Amino acid sequence: MEKPHEELVTTAQAVTLEPSPQQGTNPDFRRDLAFPTLSTAMVERLHAYGKEESFSEGLTLYTYGDKDTDMFVVLDGAIEICLSCEQKSNQVFRRLQRGEFSGELSLLNTQRSVTDARTVLDSRLLRISRQQLRLLMRAEGDIANIIVSAAIWRRIGIIGDPSMGVVLRGCEGNPDLMQLRRFFVRNYYPHRLEEIPQNDERGEGVAATQLPSVELQDGRVLVHPAIADLADELGITELPDEHTIYDVAVVGAGPAGLAAAVYAASEGLTTIAIEAIAPGGQAGTSSKIENYLGFPTGVSGAQLASRGHLQALKFGVHFAISRDIVSAHQVNGTHRLILAGGKAVCARSVVIASGAQYRKLAVKNHADYENRGLYYAATAMESLLCREREIIVVGGGNSAGQAAIFMSGVAKHVHHIIRGASLESTMSQYLISRIERSPQITLYTNTEIDGLEGDTALEFVTWTNRVTGETQRKPIGTVFVMIGAEPNSGWMYGTVKLDGKGFVLTGAEHGFEPTPYATSVPGIYAVGDVRANSVKRVASAVGEGSVVISDIHRYIAQHRSSSNMNA
Ligand SMILES: Cc1cc2nc3c(=O)[nH]c(=O)nc-3n(C[C@H](O)[C@H](O)[C@H](O)COP(=O)(O)OP(=O)(O)OC[C@H]3O[C@@H](n4cnc5c(N)ncnc54)[C@H](O)[C@@H]3O)c2cc1C
Repeated sequence: MEKPHEELVTTAQAVTLEPSPQQGTNPDFRRDLAFPTLSTAMVERLHAYGKEESFSEGLTLYTYGDKDTDMFVVLDGAIEICLSCEQKSNQVFRRLQRGEFSGELSLLNTQRSVTDARTVLDSRLLRISRQQLRLLMRAEGDIANIIVSAAIWRRIGIIGDPSMGVVLRGCEGNPDLMQLRRFFVRNYYPHRLEEIPQNDERGEGVAATQLPSVELQDGRVLVHPAIADLADELGITELPDEHTIYDVAVVGAGPAGLAAAVYAASEGLTTIAIEAIAPGGQAGTSSKIENYLGFPTGVSGAQLASRGHLQALKFGVHFAISRDIVSAHQVNGTHRLILAGGKAVCARSVVIASGAQYRKLAVKNHADYENRGLYYAATAMESLLCREREIIVVGGGNSAGQAAIFMSGVAKHVHHIIRGASLESTMSQYLISRIERSPQITLYTNTEIDGLEGDTALEFVTWTNRVTGETQRKPIGTVFVMIGAEPNSGWMYGTVKLDGKGFVLTGAEHGFEPTPYATSVPGIYAVGDVRANSVKRVASAVGEGSVVISDIHRYIAQHRSSSNMNA
């Protein structure tokens, strides 16, 4: 019996790609939702977007590593979707029958295919190109939801298979290995980790100097790969077409940027989002956001980020991930944003949503321990480092409060250090109450860290109470630093007006038009944490990102009519 559409639609909205720090088959994988059957009426509607083709048995439709693969709907016959796994022999993921369709997450983005597909009977298939798929996703809402839901569930199944994906090799605790892993996890890319114990000079015949490395599915090994090169290699980055003038370029894919991209693309504007690291921004590093409307039991930053990212992909947003914008200028009314590496993105309008980044500890050698004991995010991935250990959380804001509570469920004890005399004016009351009630957390007020020690990683931390002068030194190797943020605005110096702290000035007094998000440069708007005087919250970032698109519609329309008059 066919599944009712409602159930699938609901599922598409509910499912999310929560990056898992653990590897292994995902017990929550729902095969039934990963492989839905389209109704006859739906397949009929899809004919408007595709071309019927006949294939003989045993024909390869696409293989692992192929880019921009088409989607195939089975009209008659059967397709086998295979995972190329560790043993190099293919493992059947699914035999697709009539009414089922090929593709998984890479169908919605520019990632290279992570599966193979071939006919196993003489088959009649409906081939839908990427271009047509984009049209379909906008016009056929119910079918689009089924495709998105299936794409996510399939990726969940693939990620959960421990033999799948590229191999990330490195020495246990190595900061570069951790950074590469964070990149794969935050971009939900199938990978398996081979950690070599720290005291093991050689692992599987690989010299430690050749680590970390990434072995691609075709056997090539990238040693010490730069994130940007890896992103290009795997298709995670969609490098912009230099000849296209996008309606909107969004810089940063945190909550503000994702919201702007979703609204812009869903309203028919050609949109590109350029993101330096991975979608989600600061919110993506939060273990649980409890005050965002609509999530009564809270939502992890990773979930929120993956939902927003998928929603944007569904509406056809182009994503250049792992690329910083390094400068911006205007040429004949068009904005040229220069990416690290030199490529340019041209757009009629720009939304600056580059947010903020964490402040560092005022301890001279702090950089020596970044990712070697000092962390700026407290997600499930970092929690693995804390099991049964004493740890420190620094900071009096909500992010530090959340981290202290989250880690207190995993760590042996949490030492929570704040500079102020109390948490009252900086943290939400619900978090303060939980911290006060937790026997696993000790709060140190008027206190600052003034010493970090360790050979290759953090081993000892010293802190001092500035009122009493009392100093403590403890053997602690994990510190979460959450002491506020500075704007990511270096790339805008000399372009738009900034305030004394580097936040972007907007609004009637500073903007090129009297709207809240207009900057000093025509066509450039700023939203979210990077904007001076913004409320630094997920909901306000999402709100600003959504609202700014109405200004952009007006700006583009005016810009077009004045260019026509000048022509
Ligand atoms: C740990 C933590 C927990 C939090 N918890 C809560 C909470 O519970 N509730 C709440 O309301 N708020 C919370 N916040 C605050 C909230 O996350 C931020 O207010 C929100 O993320 C701001 O969104 P944004 O999109 O403006 O900026 P950001 O989230 O900072 O995103 C900006 C993005 O731009 C990218 N970027 C920067 N520079 C460039 C460049 N040059 N080129 C390309 N990309 C660039 C960055 O990589 C980043 O992904 C928390 C913050 C943290 C750190």
